[in-house]
Amino acid sequence: MQVPLLDLKGQYQTIRREVLETVEEVFESQHFILGPRVESLEKSIADYCGAPCAVGVSSGSSALLISLMAAGIGAGDTVVTTAYTFFATAGAIVRVGAVPLFVDIEADSYNLSPVELERVLSGMSASTRRSVSAVIPVHLYGQCADMDPILGICRQYGLTVVEDAAQAIGAEYRGRRAGSMGDFGCFSFFPSKNLGAFGDGGMVTTASEERCDKLRILRGHGARPKYYHKVVGGNFRLDALQAAIVQIKLNYLDRWTAARQRNAATYREYFRAAGLEEIITLPAEKQNRHIYNQFVIRVPEKRDELRAFLQQEGIGTEVYYPVPLHRQECFAGLDINANSLPEAEKAAAGTLALPIYPELADDQQSYVVEKIKAFFSP
Ligand SMILES: *Cc1c(COP(=O)(O)O)cnc(C)c1O
Repeated sequence: MQVPLLDLKGQYQTIRREVLETVEEVFESQHFILGPRVESLEKSIADYCGAPCAVGVSSGSSALLISLMAAGIGAGDTVVTTAYTFFATAGAIVRVGAVPLFVDIEADSYNLSPVELERVLSGMSASTRRSVSAVIPVHLYGQCADMDPILGICRQYGLTVVEDAAQAIGAEYRGRRAGSMGDFGCFSFFPSKNLGAFGDGGMVTTASEERCDKLRILRGHGARPKYYHKVVGGNFRLDALQAAIVQIKLNYLDRWTAARQRNAATYREYFRAAGLEEIITLPAEKQNRHIYNQFVIRVPEKRDELRAFLQQEGIGTEVYYPVPLHRQECFAGLDINANSLPEAEKAAAGTLALPIYPELADDQQSYVVEKIKAFFSP
């Protein structure tokens, strides 16, 4: 049996006709960048995320970058984030000229630890702390970070909050949606995200009119009106084609999310039935709407051997992420590698993402669990 990590071809077949019709319309219109289709998607995403405003951008990475730019963050600023996330989170900080400061994660949710955040900030001298201007919590794997304490700490120290919700569209924390809690919410339509385009795309949400306006100006090289530049922005524009396709897929998102949640529940049942609960740590459901962009287990040892074994058996898995950010070569000069971040390091060494996509079949899931059992008790 073959169980790929993700199977986008199956999903495409279910929406093929609608997508092709829309693509044809966009081609006929020959209007490719921004315009009414992007505006319409912006309204839909704002509604979906419970945010007053949304601005379509060219990727999740652009969303992070433009948010930091709109917040006025640059040289001399320090931005705190988690040591255990996709590289783009930290890359954006460096791109605006600021310095990243990595904080450790919670062992169970893999998200930025509010306890560690408070410890790091309160342990700084007043002058060092003054350089800290923002925090980027990441809602990793589709589950929100523990936002109430994080927002409380950020309010106390006067810090901007940029939510990296690239993996978490529709995730909820105490009834609030990802991207509606901080000053900015950053989303990605990379094809492997829960709401994926047919290429790159992204969105920024915000509650503030002023920030929304800044984002719109920065997205088109800082021009307003055209050819008059008060600030330097960039080309962060979203394609009409991608917006039109994402708009179609948004109609299916809740169904796909429910299927991911059902698959997660099925895995739990099968792992329990196989007696693997003692060996394998299943994802903790701490916040109240986990959308399972990834279903990530933790094994006590031999993670890479397990992965290779599953590969041989036709099962696709992935390690998100093998190297925590403070260990990345490109940050060696930043004087941050001295910090030991034990939970991020343990997670990087022990976690493995299993297939969880909506179209995954029941017998594929039982096959995955059966093979994991075979690996641990040959
Ligand atoms: C995917 C992702 C991004 C970047 O999004 P792109 O659209 O690929 O640029 C940023 N942060 C996290 C946590 C992601 O998973």
